[in-house]
Amino acid sequence: MENKTYDKVTTPLPHREGPGESLKGRIVIELQNVKRYFQVGSETVKALRGVSFKIYEGEFVTIQGTSGSGKSTLLNQLGCLDTPTSGEYYLDGISVRTMSKSQRAHLRNQKIGFVFQNYNLLAKTTAVENVELPLMYNSKYNAQQRREAAVRALQAVGLGDRLEHKSNQMSGGQMQRVAIARALVNNPAVLLADEATGNLDTRTSFEMLVLFQELHRQGHTIIFVTHNPEIAEYASRNINLRDGKIREDTINPNIKSAAEALAALPIPQDD
Ligand code: ADP
Ligand code: MG
Repeated sequence: MENKTYDKVTTPLPHREGPGESLKGRIVIELQNVKRYFQVGSETVKALRGVSFKIYEGEFVTIQGTSGSGKSTLLNQLGCLDTPTSGEYYLDGISVRTMSKSQRAHLRNQKIGFVFQNYNLLAKTTAVENVELPLMYNSKYNAQQRREAAVRALQAVGLGDRLEHKSNQMSGGQMQRVAIARALVNNPAVLLADEATGNLDTRTSFEMLVLFQELHRQGHTIIFVTHNPEIAEYASRNINLRDGKIREDTINPNIKSAAEALAALPIPQDD
């Protein structure tokens, strides 16, 4: 069985001023001087060179940067897929650095909903079965409760009428909605999206942004990693990486409406 005793943070973390501070909410994620070095032959590649930030409950944060700036390495830290060379990472108050691989897997399943560029759905499997999957490891759910939770999550992303459709019978946008429902079904502390609109056409990308903004409005905490700067205009905060360091960390004072942008797109012409 899993060892479920984590290093709970019982004392308040040191106070530092930074973007998001004015929200004065609960801290969902805190990175303290996180470094990640890779040894390649005789060379040390410094993918992250000391990254620090706090993310508060209810923020919609984009993490941006050019290719090679360290986005994927950072995402792997945030998603508990990898551990820092040095520095601290607290996820929902739990110190991740000292955890074993299996402890991290358990924490990941409980606290994080992942949305990937390529959807990562099981092929030839229905929407509802795909969404039930994260609950298979959760002893609090019996088969009927799993099903009910999956149906609710699919309804929340607008797929209440596609429950029994298989992955190969759906469009890219529908598959991404299933993936978002699957990410939400466990009620995670944070939704972690990796280029979640990367494979979608413009219209479908905006439809997805409408959904992310709706989830943001409902209070979900979202981290959206992307190389596309346009997406930052729809989020509440943007963290920009360069050479493994934070180049900029700014609150967006003027969040654009994805619904308005979608409505302003030209109507697709059938030819
Ligand atoms: P991004 O996702 O922004 O393109 P990455 O996090 O993938 O950036 O990579 C940041 C830097 O770290 C790059 O120079 C990359 O070559 C290097 N890097 C990433 N992962 C590894 C690894 N497993 N081994 C060696 N170098 C790596
Ligand atoms: Mg990458």
